[in-house]
Amino acid sequence: MDAAKRISAIVADSDYDPNSMPVDRARAYIRAFLAPVSAVERLHLRAALGRVLAAEIRSLLNVPAHDNSAMDGYAVRFADLKPDAESTLRIAGVSLAGKPFQGRAGAGEAVRIMTGGVMPGGYDTVIMQERARAADGKVTLPGGQQKGQNVRYAGADIQAGQVVFKPGEIVRPAELGMIASLGIGEVSVYRRLRVAFFSTGDELVPIGGTLESGEIYDSNRYTIYGMLMRLGVEAIDMGLIRDDPAAIESAFAQAAQAADVVITSGGVSVGEADFVKQLLAKLGDVLFWKIAMKPGRPLAYGKIGQAHFFGLPGNPVSAMVTFYQFVREALLVLMGVADPHPLPLLKAVCTSAIKKAPGRTEFQRGVLSADVDGHWTVRVTGDQSSGILSSMSQANCFIVLPDAQGNTPAGATVDVQVLEGLV
Ligand code: AMP
Ligand code: MG
Repeated sequence: MDAAKRISAIVADSDYDPNSMPVDRARAYIRAFLAPVSAVERLHLRAALGRVLAAEIRSLLNVPAHDNSAMDGYAVRFADLKPDAESTLRIAGVSLAGKPFQGRAGAGEAVRIMTGGVMPGGYDTVIMQERARAADGKVTLPGGQQKGQNVRYAGADIQAGQVVFKPGEIVRPAELGMIASLGIGEVSVYRRLRVAFFSTGDELVPIGGTLESGEIYDSNRYTIYGMLMRLGVEAIDMGLIRDDPAAIESAFAQAAQAADVVITSGGVSVGEADFVKQLLAKLGDVLFWKIAMKPGRPLAYGKIGQAHFFGLPGNPVSAMVTFYQFVREALLVLMGVADPHPLPLLKAVCTSAIKKAPGRTEFQRGVLSADVDGHWTVRVTGDQSSGILSSMSQANCFIVLPDAQGNTPAGATVDVQVLEGLV
């Protein structure tokens, strides 16, 4: 079934209440329509940072390639040591990182070895230098050593032939290093997702313009730009569009042509939605929801041609919260991420009392900090109105209050979602 038919089926679903859509349910509906981009490009390793792997990465090597020492000290055969007494062995040579010992060490001999130095053949144990006494070409080592101690074995990190990364993994700094450690300098990644976005609202003025009475500067185009850039997509800013059907229609048509995803802010709340609704019914198939959440009640999702469409509420905090709770994960799936992890919910003691009606999920803006004993506590940032963008700026977390929860007294344990890593 194509997306349009499936969306129509959702609208016909008797169990579906667009006026009180639980957060999880809306997320699951959206998820059902998402298929990742398929085009792939080859990039130099460093250029792949933040991109999503499109092919598995298999190691042709053992990492490390050789058994080597984890310490500066002396390599020996364990069998040459007296178990409970000192042993004195002749020093046959030196093995440095990158400069292995070239000779042959015989029985009863030790090799001076540095961290990363290759273990001489037949040697199995390293004694750290702090425990050794060297003099006159000999070294005296204490008893009580363990066979195999301080040795890093070939292939301990990665074995030759092993699949190290599967398609759908994001390349982070550790992956860059891992791939480099395999000697691989080029990788296949999905092409960048293209996301077009614009603001709607006659009251909005672009920065640089002068405010007349009742006008405000367009800030959503900046928060949305920022959130998109952090995800590593290609962001296409289509500017500020008047609340005028012809202008909005041509903006939608253009955006859907240019991008994989179209994001707008404003114009989906009651009163405004009607003309946008009619327009979108003409251009595509879009669901209009009132999500059972605060802030961020109105949300539209659907398809315009091949493009996915997210209509975010206009209120600046609502636009950010709905982006994080719905759009972020959807974009990760579209970018090719195989399994976007749900954002972790951590527990913290909330020092503020919070008023809340059951029946909706709330995302209060919070400041999480460690108290003198190192326990995490959280407080609300103050005014939680959906227009107070400074509440997002002061916050370092969302306090997530689930549907069923009512008023929360000070001192209660709450769930928090840390913004660091999210933003
Ligand atoms: P709307 O969803 O269009 O009804 O807008 C709700 C509120 O958000 C109104 O107060 C708008 O002025 C405000 N708003 C809408 N779009 C933006 C924007 N791009 N930047 C800042 N505020 C906005
Ligand atoms: Mg508006």
